[in-house]
Order: sequence, then C-alpha cells, then structure tokens
Amino acid sequence: MFGSVVVGVGTAGFVRIRDMLAPLPSSAAEKLSVKGFISRRTLEEQQGVKQITVEDALRRDDIKVAFVCTENAAHEENIRTFLEAGKHVCVEYPMAMTHKTAVDLWDLAQEKGVVLHEEHIELLTADFKQLKKDIAGKKLEEGSLHFTGGPLKPGFGFPAFSGIARLTWLVDLFGELSVTAASMEEDQENKYMKMTTQLMTKEQKPLTWIEERGPGLPRVKNINFCFDSCTMTQLPPAAREPVGLFMQDLVLFSQKLLGQVPRDQLHAERHRVLHCLELADRIQQLSQQGQGSAQDA
Ligand code: NAD
Repeated sequence: MFGSVVVGVGTAGFVRIRDMLAPLPSSAAEKLSVKGFISRRTLEEQQGVKQITVEDALRRDDIKVAFVCTENAAHEENIRTFLEAGKHVCVEYPMAMTHKTAVDLWDLAQEKGVVLHEEHIELLTADFKQLKKDIAGKKLEEGSLHFTGGPLKPGFGFPAFSGIARLTWLVDLFGELSVTAASMEEDQENKYMKMTTQLMTKEQKPLTWIEERGPGLPRVKNINFCFDSCTMTQLPPAAREPVGLFMQDLVLFSQKLLGQVPRDQLHAERHRVLHCLELADRIQQLSQQGQGSAQDA
C-alpha cells in the first residue's frame, strides 16, 4: 500500500481525499490509502481524515506519496520538499510556473527514483475523447479555441499557465506548436483579462488560443476548427462516463507507482508536459514584452 498525504484542501484536495477513501474497485487506485492532509489553516477532520504537519508527513515511513493540490504558486515548493524526502508526488496542473522549474523537478524525481505525475483531467473528459476521435485523419487548415470563465483567485499565475489545460488540448490534438505572437489585455480593477495567442502547427497551419476571464463570463470553450473536409464549431456531444475524471487520473497515477505504465508512454507524457510549459513561458514572455510578435523578439 502507498500511504498518502493531501496538501491543500480546496476543490481538488477534497476530491483527492474522497477518491482515496472510495477507490475504483479492482483498480490500481486501491493501492493508495490516505493518511492525512496538510493545510496552512488549522482545520477539523476532513471526511474523517486528520490534519498532520509537513514535518510529520516527511518523517513518516508509512507516507510514501504526496498530492499537491494547492494554488499554482505553491506547487514548486511543495513538490520539491516531498521529492527531496524521497516521496512520490502527484501534482494538479500546472506543475510549475516556468518550464525550467518543471525540468529541474523532473530531474530531481529521477535522481530520487520516485514518480512525479502531473494531473491532466482535461484529456480524460468524454467530450475531449470524442473530439479527438472525430478529428482523426482530418487535415487542419486553421483553428481557434476561445475559453471564457470567471476571474481566478490570487496565486494561480499568468493565464498561459493557469490555462495550460486548453494549450494541452491543442498540443494533444494537433501536435507540437510554436508561438508566433501573444498579447494580454488586463483591467485589474474590473477583474477582467484577455490573453490572445497565435500558434503555428508543424505543418504551418495557424491556431488562435484565447483565455478570457471576467465577472459573469460563463465557463465555456468555443472552438472553430477548419479542416480540409469540414468545419467544426461545436464540441461533439458525448455521454458522461461512469468513472469520474479525478478517479481516472488516480488510477493512472497508481499504475505509475506500480510500474505498470510503459516507458514510451511516460516519455511521451513528460515530453508533452514540458513542451506545453515551454510554450506557456514563451507566451508569457511575448505578452509581457508588449510587442507581441515572435519575429520581433
Ligand atoms: P482552491 O482554491 O479550491 O484550493 C486551493 C487550496 O489550497 C486552498 O484551499 C488553499 O487554502 C490551499 N492551500 C494553498 N497553499 C497551501 C499550503 N501550503 N498548505 C496547505 N493548503 C494550502 O483551488 P482548486 O480548484 O482546488 O485548485 C488547486 C489546484 O488544482 C490548482 O493547481 C488547479 O490548477 C488544479 N486543478 C483544479 C481543478 C478543479 O477542478 N478544481 C482541475 C484541474 C486542476
């Protein structure tokens, strides 16, 4: 069994505890057992699980795994602390706020011989799986993905990182990308922001990615993908799956702990994660330079 601790008990942390208390029957997730949670606040038991200190979690031999479910800005420090102590880590996306940090953390995990896993539930949704099936074999001409949502709480970072799920969709659908331009509009007083990014596929087809957040904006992904044979303007309807998204991710992470995930798959995943973070770095750089075009930089 892999005794685990959950760090940060917001939405994601709550679900991690819930899922470990009732893992998918006959799945690898049954090998995890939650031993406690860590919070900066002093809290009562959560779902019957006790609060423990970081020091306790690091010291205890029966705790082998940490789930890092804090706001994004605290991921790096938490991951590093647990990896240094030889614990496996599952972190909610994004792993870190720079590409270089993620490379360092992954190297550290390798040096310590432990698993470092970044959750990507957006790749596990029924609509994404259906979308991927539907576009298989089609040739992209151009496309856009426009995400809208409410304002983010502090500590979630630059939108290219907090919105890495959307970028990951584009990379998973269309392969490696490059950034040709990026800009950012922000009205802090009104909690409004809009990041617009121009991307290019390896086949030199343009993609636009927009992250727009503000009070009252619905949480929606608008797509417009033009292919050689058709245009898609809506996500395909897909039936809800019986196994929850975080549970699917928990099973994957547990399989990694048990050495059941093929090396090629692990390599491809690491490559995709680092590629997306590298793009996010570049988008942030270009947006903050204010001039926006990669050719000028
Ligand atoms: P949230 O604001 O609900 O929770 C964050 C929590 O962690 C807060 O309660 C905060 O008090 C606590 N926290 C922060 N630093 C801490 C520390 N050092 N020790 C203990 N507690 C600490 O946010 P969330 O939605 O749960 O998101 C958490 C992470 O999960 C983020 O990285 C986010 O990108 C990722 N994520 C969330 C979802 C989701 O559906 N909510 C989906 C995918 C990824």
